Amino acid sequence: MKTHVRALVVGGGAVGTGIAYHLGRAGWDTMLLERDELTSGSTWHAAGLLPLFNMSYATTHIHKYSVDFYKGLEAETGLNAGFYVVGNLRMAQTDARMDEYMLYSSVAETADVYHEFLSPKEIADRWPLVRTEDLKGALFHPQDGYINPADVTMAMAKGARQHGVTIERKWQVDGYKWTGSEWEVSVSKMVEKGGNLVPSDETAVIRAEHVVTATGNHAQRTARLLGIKIPAIPVEHQYIVTEPDPALVEWRKTHDQHPVLRDADAKWYVREERGGWILGPYERNAPARFEYGVPDSFRADLFPLDLERIEEEYMSMIHRIPSSESVGLKDDFNGPICYTPDGNPLVGPAPGLRNMWLAEGFSFGITAAGGTGHYLAQLMTQGEAEIDMASLDPKRYGRWMTTEYAARKNEEAYEHVFILHHPDEERPACRPLRTAPAYDRQKAKGAQFGQVNGWERPNYYGPVDAPADFDHDGRSFRRGTWWPHAEAEAKAIREGAGLIDATAFTKHWVSGPGATAFLDWFTTNKLPKVGRINLTYALTDAGTTRTEYTIVRREENGYYLVSAGASTAYDADYLQKSMEDWIANGGAWVMAHDVTTQWGVFALAGPKSRDILKALVKDADPATALSNKRFPWLSARDIELGMVPTLAIRVAYTGELGWELHHPIEMQTHLWDRLMEAGEPHGLTLVGARAQNWLRQEKSYRAFGTELGRDATPLEAGLDRFVDLEKDFRGKAAMEALGVRSKCVTLLIDGPADADPWGKEALFADGERVGRLTSGGWSVAFGKQIGMGYVRPDLAAPGTKLQVRMFRELYEAVVAEDSPYDPTNARIRVDG
Ligand SMILES: Cc1cc2nc3c(=O)[nH]c(=O)nc-3n(C[C@H](O)[C@H](O)[C@H](O)COP(=O)(O)OP(=O)(O)OC[C@H]3O[C@@H](n4cnc5c(N)ncnc54)[C@H](O)[C@@H]3O)c2cc1C
Repeated sequence: MKTHVRALVVGGGAVGTGIAYHLGRAGWDTMLLERDELTSGSTWHAAGLLPLFNMSYATTHIHKYSVDFYKGLEAETGLNAGFYVVGNLRMAQTDARMDEYMLYSSVAETADVYHEFLSPKEIADRWPLVRTEDLKGALFHPQDGYINPADVTMAMAKGARQHGVTIERKWQVDGYKWTGSEWEVSVSKMVEKGGNLVPSDETAVIRAEHVVTATGNHAQRTARLLGIKIPAIPVEHQYIVTEPDPALVEWRKTHDQHPVLRDADAKWYVREERGGWILGPYERNAPARFEYGVPDSFRADLFPLDLERIEEEYMSMIHRIPSSESVGLKDDFNGPICYTPDGNPLVGPAPGLRNMWLAEGFSFGITAAGGTGHYLAQLMTQGEAEIDMASLDPKRYGRWMTTEYAARKNEEAYEHVFILHHPDEERPACRPLRTAPAYDRQKAKGAQFGQVNGWERPNYYGPVDAPADFDHDGRSFRRGTWWPHAEAEAKAIREGAGLIDATAFTKHWVSGPGATAFLDWFTTNKLPKVGRINLTYALTDAGTTRTEYTIVRREENGYYLVSAGASTAYDADYLQKSMEDWIANGGAWVMAHDVTTQWGVFALAGPKSRDILKALVKDADPATALSNKRFPWLSARDIELGMVPTLAIRVAYTGELGWELHHPIEMQTHLWDRLMEAGEPHGLTLVGARAQNWLRQEKSYRAFGTELGRDATPLEAGLDRFVDLEKDFRGKAAMEALGVRSKCVTLLIDGPADADPWGKEALFADGERVGRLTSGGWSVAFGKQIGMGYVRPDLAAPGTKLQVRMFRELYEAVVAEDSPYDPTNARIRVDG
């Protein structure tokens, strides 16, 4: 066995094999280790469906890549991957489900995924075994289907070997040690003992520059070996196989295979199998398994069938395919299927570790294996992938995450596979968990919370005196019941004053003799003077946006960095590793502390916000304490509000006069109460994240995770004024080399009467697709829909006429000037 490689892939399921193939193809000296046989994890018992349907832009790209890639494997390797391109019919029983498909259609369109819409009659004409009278229609993907999971894995393994990859079976990884430049990986030869697979005395150490773990259900053991947390815990998933259905057998005499069927409202998939049917339900109450590891006795094993648990779905299959009523059951599979709390896999650099890559938590691993291999190999060998992989990054969960949390959330993610994927969905399990002190007060005022990185954050404030049957959770692909409340909140900020809880923001304190030089290299903008603030960007080495920071310079060498709330571990990891690199390269010492949970943040905004603060501020001259002279825009000052020492920062993400009030978290309720009292005479309104998201688009303020990510540079995002090209900074040369491939614009849209864009829609000019939206909403200032997105650079000039496709119709849109609301910032700078 080789003892030194550039990349070691641990795990020989579909995912590990797909990664090894692509690393080999990229020219990396790669070895794959499997503790048992290839496919002996979850891969062997998968049903092999390859659904292209997905609401995420990144995942849609991954799945599409796989489907295209698998089709070419036979020509490349000579092995038939067992791909049956039978099509996939996803049915809808309700108008809301059809709306969901139309929103999906937007995502699919932006990723070039071909699909069709069919009416119930078209379904009945083509597939008469399907009952259609209670259907509204269906989405049809003629280009997907199902594949034999073992065959496709073997074909990828052969392709990997052809690209020089070594595959070793019956070797288990038992330990990892980082030497500073490479990993020393301890491995044991596995042997059979009493039916179990156990380590023998034969051991070895492999040195690898990079390691990728793709250990499927064994992720908890991998986490222990690495000393990190990986919230990938399997859940039971079962499917049943029926005896041949005579009606299907008869129909097949004159037809090709039946397409895969999905009755999303009934929570199941069905496909043809040797004249019978496979039914795979996503039922309620499927339990998590192996929270603390897979026992030695569990190899390519299954759990007993629990037919009672899937009775409802079984009956609904009989309803949908009446001929299946008379056929008996032939076989059943109940296996572990890995999940994560949000249902997306964990793909990318491991937290805190160097050259360690995770590819864990796959629930659609057969569908995702090829695409994951492709994009992860790009990330590893080229520094970045073509698509922004942040939504899959393992660091989207912090160290606050526990086994119990992961297990319960993973059960929920499983149960939610077929729910309506509303963009305004908030999932209930394990909540509330991370709450700021003002939580109860906000709840009492009608706050309806969303979850950001585990934190509870008000999305909007609903009616406190609502009738018992008022549906606070009334979600829609058009406008949910929250919409009028968000509209009122947005208007309140424009006209009076609003208070927004921004406690979830990520906050770091960066200090030390090297702090200034380090941050100057790490970020794109000029550093602010002491007491001032700047908006700035940290780039990837590929020149794209890694993080957006508001930097407050508190001391000559002391900086307070504020970044997106969803990204605490993601930002902390990059900051820490960048500082280590800086010091290793001879830079002066610098250190960072994550102070996120020590500081609460309230954003007070609106024309009356100064009057409210004046009433609270303790100052020798309260009348001038907040004036432009003493407290100019884009400055930060320590002030006292009641008895709370507050770092006030004069910025407002809503585009009105305003201050962010960063306060010691333990004093939060005191500050809240004082603000409520002082705000009362001024009509202070409580405002949630949804209204804020609309308002920031009126100011063209880009948001991290939508306009800002690892697939675009700040210049493409139109943030040139925050990039100081006079200085050298990390990623600068790469950013300049990329040029401007597309350009971020703000659009005012004459959309439908009952819906706003969600930021997933395709953009057109003269019938040609020219870009996509990344954000969307309603503008109270302009009384029409608003959106932000990326278009071809030649179409970015204000006044350019475009169209947005929503609900399969084209709506007129015009590129607005940057910051269409108050473009001169007169309202923000107003004195008083
Ligand atoms: C009943 C059922 C039906 C399914 N149907 C579908 C479907 O239709 N479509 C779809 O896309 N997905 C489906 N899935 C999910 C799919 O099976 C998984 O997502 C996929 O197999 C995951 O692949 P993987 O390579 O990540 O994990 P695995 O296949 O579990 O592979 C991980 C491998 O790592 C090895 N390993 C672990 N630790 C070590 C170590 N320390 N050293 C060496 N080797 C190690 C294991 O032995 C194992 O072989 C289904 C799952 C179930 C249970």
